[in-house]
Amino acid sequence: MDGIEANEHAITSRTTVQRAMTRVETGHQTGIRLLKCVLIAVALGAVPSAPTAAQSLRGSSASLDLQNRVAREHDFSFIETGERVTYFASRGWLQRVTPNRNFELHAVSFPYARPEVATFVERLARQYRAACGEQLVVTSLTRPTTRQPRNASERSVHPTGMAVDLRYSRDRNCRNWLEGVLTSLESAGVLEATRERYPAHYHVAVFPKQYKSYVGQVATRATQRVTQIAYTVRNGDSLWTIARRLGTTVEVIKQKNGINGSKIFAGQVLEVPSSR
Ligand SMILES: [Zn+2]
Repeated sequence: MDGIEANEHAITSRTTVQRAMTRVETGHQTGIRLLKCVLIAVALGAVPSAPTAAQSLRGSSASLDLQNRVAREHDFSFIETGERVTYFASRGWLQRVTPNRNFELHAVSFPYARPEVATFVERLARQYRAACGEQLVVTSLTRPTTRQPRNASERSVHPTGMAVDLRYSRDRNCRNWLEGVLTSLESAGVLEATRERYPAHYHVAVFPKQYKSYVGQVATRATQRVTQIAYTVRNGDSLWTIARRLGTTVEVIKQKNGINGSKIFAGQVLEVPSSR
């Protein structure tokens, strides 16, 4: 279910709320309509329109310190030349970032990044497009030290392949979504994001080990989803037949829907946790 993806990036391990994602499906064989709800844990920080969302995207010396410290912890080299980029790619230390329907590369001289950064771009772009309808635009990835733009900081981590620049969208909804997600991931400790001015873009230093473990946690949670079905009662149904059809028990349905006794009526919509 694609809608879930938009929230995956916003999950933190600290505070969670449950949000129901819904989708209507039509059962062709039976003609009944099922409303499937999937409950997933998402962070309070996932709310993209939070007024404080953009505040931590201001760059600072401390932010650069952190990016460099993480680069050292990963034992990353600051790559000096284009040839070295090719060499790193041949060893699998850098991975080619291939654009797809969710993102494009704009004037990117070296379309390579650390493998985890490539994963980050792909996941983020998929969610970004689902959330706001736009393709994400990547404007920079690995940049060798000898190929840095004049106004780049000497402490930029682009030469390590752990950073990506994202174009600043003209669409406010897209910016709000992106800033919300980046801020949330920043507070989860998996990246440092900064909104830069000249030219306007988001600089994101992804922390590979931390991000990888975060993605692993998200995948684990995804398998723990509880599926809820909104079942519309038909003539001839009983609690027992419904429970049997959907793989649950009469007691669970009664408890979920506050039913005393066993009376149900055609057209009534019951919320049923289903294991099928
Ligand atoms: Zn950057």
